[in-house]
Amino acid sequence: MDSLWDFPDFDEHELVHFVTDRGSGLKALIAVHSTHLGPGAGGTRFWHYPRSEQAIADVLRLSRGMSYKNAMAGLPLGGGKAVILADAQRTKTPEMLAAFGKAVDGLCGRYVTAEDVGVNVADMVAISKQTRFVAGLPVEAGAVGGDPGPHTSYGVYLGIKAAVKRALGKDSLAGLHIALQGAGSVAGGVARRAAAEGARISVADIDAGRAQALADEVGGTVVATDAIMSLEADVFSPNALGAILDEASIAALNVPIVAGGANNQLATPADGDRVQARGILYAPDYVINAGGIINVSTEFLGDGDQDTVRQRVEAIPGRLEAIWQESADSGRNPAQVAGGMARKLIGRA
Ligand code: NAD
Repeated sequence: MDSLWDFPDFDEHELVHFVTDRGSGLKALIAVHSTHLGPGAGGTRFWHYPRSEQAIADVLRLSRGMSYKNAMAGLPLGGGKAVILADAQRTKTPEMLAAFGKAVDGLCGRYVTAEDVGVNVADMVAISKQTRFVAGLPVEAGAVGGDPGPHTSYGVYLGIKAAVKRALGKDSLAGLHIALQGAGSVAGGVARRAAAEGARISVADIDAGRAQALADEVGGTVVATDAIMSLEADVFSPNALGAILDEASIAALNVPIVAGGANNQLATPADGDRVQARGILYAPDYVINAGGIINVSTEFLGDGDQDTVRQRVEAIPGRLEAIWQESADSGRNPAQVAGGMARKLIGRA
């Protein structure tokens, strides 16, 4: 097996912390990509990886993505991420969460955690008993904090509207068809807002019950998971897991726009060119999905209220516009343009 430094996703990460706790059975990885702009901040993913190399690749890629995301969102935060390696049954115990909290605390604030796939607010509360380097905690009504999902959804929805404006020249989603991959926290929020504006929703989720519940709620249609990416629609919105845009899936896309909240949508950098070559407008994931981390950052740093969060999330469409414009001017694809902007901001141009 390659050494860590030879992993294709290793990018001068400042630290990669391997956590093993015999008592609780916890196996986890914490990666901090950059602290150039502030503490490495990013969520914890709880996932079953058939091979541990997949977890290493995921944490390296996701933590770099957080450096880029936090920088592009204008936050005084670096990038980090953690993954907890679940067993096939996804057993999660209070002891594991406590051990994970102690591991986060051991990094003395170089890493600040929050929710990600498989980790909920109650888990964050459990982790916060061991460390103060946690955000995404429940708060009093009216205060900043809690589940970042709705803020991510709001930003994704605004980003979809910006893409629709640019690619289709329309100010509203009314009458448009949006194909959603995933029916979880982010997709649910996007679906509700888009449907309220008059969009038609198609949704696919490996959890068929979840897809059906969301479709019922928004008057949409459930689509098979292997059909959602080739569905004819106005927008394909990936809101499940990453690396879904590859040579084959891009060739099959039947939309003018790809804009969604999932992290690391492009399987490889070359796939950014492939999407562009098909004339499809792509919203770089870590720019469009920054709403959650904006809320987390404002909660953790205490530098604003709910209005501040809303205003910061509402800056996302302008950033996408700037990227698309530079892409149009330079011929480079939007992911490349965003990557260049982000690397400059974290001092790695
Ligand atoms: P979630 O766990 O609530 O929902 C994810 C959904 O995707 C689940 O219902 C799951 O069954 C489904 N799914 C998994 N694999 C699938 C597949 N192959 N096809 C169809 N559906 C599949 O998670 P979420 O919070 O909604 O996050 C969704 C994505 O957005 C993730 O990539 C996450 O990293 C990213 N993201 C989330 C936030 C946030 O604030 N929650 C912020 C930024 C990015």
